[in-house]
Amino acid sequence: MARYTESQCRLCRRETMKLYLKGDRCYSDKCAIERRNYPPGQHGQGRGKLSEYGLQLREKQKIKRIYGLVEKQFESYFEEADRQKGVTGTNFLILLERRLDNSVYRLGFASSRSQARQLVRHNHFMVNGRKVNIPSFLLRPGDTVSVAEGSRNLQAINESIGAMPRRGLPAWLEVDSAKYEGIFKVFPNRDEMNLPVQEQLVVEFYSK
Ligand code: SF4
Repeated sequence: MARYTESQCRLCRRETMKLYLKGDRCYSDKCAIERRNYPPGQHGQGRGKLSEYGLQLREKQKIKRIYGLVEKQFESYFEEADRQKGVTGTNFLILLERRLDNSVYRLGFASSRSQARQLVRHNHFMVNGRKVNIPSFLLRPGDTVSVAEGSRNLQAINESIGAMPRRGLPAWLEVDSAKYEGIFKVFPNRDEMNLPVQEQLVVEFYSK
């Protein structure tokens, strides 16, 4: 499975914003964006104004990095969103939010999306009472996500639940941490997603 091997903080610095890729560290003063909020590399501080294409490309990269996807996966979500009725950009973000690994992170059972992906792959989660180890599994309204019974004493999961109040729970999810269980209630709307991205630029990027 392809994945990023570059430093995650470097990815945030390239986008000059926090993408919250490293769990607890992102909320501490060790965060690289708190200390050096400019693109990495020799010419990081001297980059000029971006072209229209450059802006679209950066927005695409930003969303891809937030959700930890590689180009091919990202493109296939976009194609799927484009086939659906409604606003393509919003459809696209909804598809990304429906991923099981993303929901595990959003529910507070993992401190980052990459940790959530690893935990899902290692069989620590169930959907509607059945083990699912596919991070890209798409949730539907009413689906229940729970920590598998034998995984409830995992330190990573419990530490993450403890840190959850700091992150807050999105409106489309419900969680009962004591039961290690959450519900994907409805598809989110754009405002609820509260993502600092301009998905319309991605639509323009792929419309060329
Ligand atoms: Fe990004 Fe987190 Fe690194 Fe800060 S600590 S630069 S938010 S990955």
